[in-house]
Amino acid sequence: MSTEPQLRADIVEVGRRMYARGYTASNDGNISARLGPDRLVMTPKSVCKGFMTPEMMCITDLDGRKLLGDRDPSSEMLMHLEVYRQRPDVQAVVHAHPPIATGFAVAGIPLDRAVLAEVLTTLGSIPIAEYATPSTRELPEAVRKYIRAHDGMLLANHGALTVGADLFAAYYKMETIEHFAKISLVARLLGRENLISREEVIRLQGLRDTYGIKAPAPICADPSTALGPADMSQDQAACQVVQAPSSPGARLVPDLLPPAPAAKDDGEIRLTYRELSALIEDAIRSLR
Ligand SMILES: [Zn+2]
Repeated sequence: MSTEPQLRADIVEVGRRMYARGYTASNDGNISARLGPDRLVMTPKSVCKGFMTPEMMCITDLDGRKLLGDRDPSSEMLMHLEVYRQRPDVQAVVHAHPPIATGFAVAGIPLDRAVLAEVLTTLGSIPIAEYATPSTRELPEAVRKYIRAHDGMLLANHGALTVGADLFAAYYKMETIEHFAKISLVARLLGRENLISREEVIRLQGLRDTYGIKAPAPICADPSTALGPADMSQDQAACQVVQAPSSPGARLVPDLLPPAPAAKDDGEIRLTYRELSALIEDAIRSLR
């Protein structure tokens, strides 16, 4: 486990990167890390994450009681506490409002399509936690549903949340989500997405060991294997399934998007007024 000065410095650096990349505006976003079995270090409320200093941080226990710090802990502290309660393996939590991923969260479109191999291997599907009023007890409730199975999620009409084995692992997942959202948006603007087949998705899941990536955050290619029986017994544990069509032999399958509008020269006939009148007269004559 990192030392307290190191964690404070890492939070400052992660905040600086989030602000520099436009993942937060003004005082948005919050960052925390485990400092010990019952200690967290966390960003304070009402500071711009791009201009923090190590001594600004708050130290709290896992019930949110402030133990050290001149400022009060983040207004989203309850969400962070819930994540640490649900995920003993998680060492750090990052919350931001990256604009393109948040656009998907506003549109209610989860990033659940099997389109990028590396995202499938690292994050799997990225669900949307239900809308909750920020900084209230509703938000941890909404996050709880997916956090046991996912390392990253969108928050409806709000932003995104990522977790990891250290601060930078959690932060890089935020970068991955925003990058994935950007690519998905471009593909959808271009009018099609080729999806990775379910068979290939399962192969990618098998590669996780090679990269040292541990479940949770399963790919969930098959809902029946989404979570083990022990997990299913837990309160509201849920998994967003990846959309990956089954297609034996084919590794890429044409998209499931509705067909693009027909091109102008496809099925459209252009007539002058004179030609149209002649056609109508012909039709009337043939009726007589
Ligand atoms: Zn927020």
